[in-house]
Amino acid sequence: MENIKICKSCLMPSSRPRVTFNENGVCNACLYIKKKNKINWPSREKEFQEICDKYRSNNGQYDCIVPWSGGKDSSSIAYKLKFVHKMNPLLVTFSPLLPSDIGEINREILINKGFDNIFFRPNQNVSRYLSRRFFLERGNPKVHWDAGINALPLKVAVEKKIKLIFYAEHGESEYGGKIIKKNSDKIRDLDEVLENQIGDDPSNWIDEKITVNDLAPYKCPEEDQIKENDIQAYYFAYFFKWDVYENYKYVKKEYNFKENNTRISGTFQNYDSMDDLIDPLYYYMQFIKFGFGRALRDASRLVQNNHMSRDEALRMVKNYDGEFPNEKIDEVLEYLDCNLVEFNENIDKHRNKEIWNLVGNKYIQSFEIK
Ligand SMILES: [Zn+2]
Repeated sequence: MENIKICKSCLMPSSRPRVTFNENGVCNACLYIKKKNKINWPSREKEFQEICDKYRSNNGQYDCIVPWSGGKDSSSIAYKLKFVHKMNPLLVTFSPLLPSDIGEINREILINKGFDNIFFRPNQNVSRYLSRRFFLERGNPKVHWDAGINALPLKVAVEKKIKLIFYAEHGESEYGGKIIKKNSDKIRDLDEVLENQIGDDPSNWIDEKITVNDLAPYKCPEEDQIKENDIQAYYFAYFFKWDVYENYKYVKKEYNFKENNTRISGTFQNYDSMDDLIDPLYYYMQFIKFGFGRALRDASRLVQNNHMSRDEALRMVKNYDGEFPNEKIDEVLEYLDCNLVEFNENIDKHRNKEIWNLVGNKYIQSFEIK
C-alpha cells in the first residue's frame, strides 16, 4: 500500500480505521492531544465537581458505577472518585475471556482498599464458542466481550437504579477516529458505541448452537429503560487531562499496583492491558489487519504525551511490533478449540492483502514505519 501515511508526530499509520491526517501529515489523535494543552482544566474540574455534588449519595446507596477491569486506567478513576471526590462507586467487571493471574491480583488489591465489586462471568461454553467463531469469521476473538463490557454497566445501572456511570476515555477522540457529535468526548453516546465497537446486534449471533437466551450477557437494556432511569454516562477523561502513563504512576504510588513479571508479548511495557491472556492475540490480529501492533499503539501514546521520543518509539516498534503471540499460546489454543495449523491458517486468511505481500513463503509488510 504505497499511499499509507505515517503520522509525522507519533507513529500511527493511516491504515488505522477512521483516523484522519491534517495537511502537515499529523494524525487527529496527536491534534486532539495538542488541543488538550489549551483547555481550561480547572473549569472542567469544577464542572466535574458539580456533577459529583448532584449525584453524591448520603443514604447508603451507590451513587455511580465504574466499569472496571482492575487495570491502571479504570482503577485510577475508581480511586479518585472514592478517596478524592468522596463518591460511593460500585465497580462493575465483565470477566476477561481468559483471566490472568496479574489481573486477579490487582483487582484483589484495590477491592481490599475498600471497594464493592460485581464480577460477572458469563456461560463459558457460549463465550468460548463465540470466541472461536469470531476469531475464524472476523479475526477478532473478542467481539462478544466488547458487547458484554458495554452492556453490563448499563444493566447494573438499570437494575440498581444508579443514575451515573463514569467511563474512562472516548477512544475515538483520544486515539484517532471518527467524532460523530460535538459532545462525544464528554457524554457517552450509545448509538456511537454500537456503531464503532460492536458493529452489530447480539441477536444476529443466533445459530444452531446459540439461542437468544444464551446472549443475555451481551444485550444492552432497551433504550427506553435507560432513558426512563435517567442514566447519564460521562467520560472521566473529559474532566481531567488523560494520560495513561500518568494513570499507571498514580495507581503505583497510591496502592502499589503490580506490573507483570515480564514485558507483555508484542510490546515493550509490562503495566497496560494485562488482565486477559487472549489480548496478545487480539493485538496481533490488528497487526495482521491494519499493519500496526501493540508496541506501536503503546509507543505512540507515550510519544503523544511526551514520555518517549519518536526515535525511541521507532526502536520499540522495530523490536517488538507484530511479535507472534506466543505467551500462554497453549491456553489460548485450547480456549479457541484450535490446533496451531488451523490457528495459523486463520491468521493468514485475515491478512489485509494491501498490507501484506507474499514473497516466497513469507509475508512482507508493504509499508515501512519510519
Ligand atoms: Zn499522531
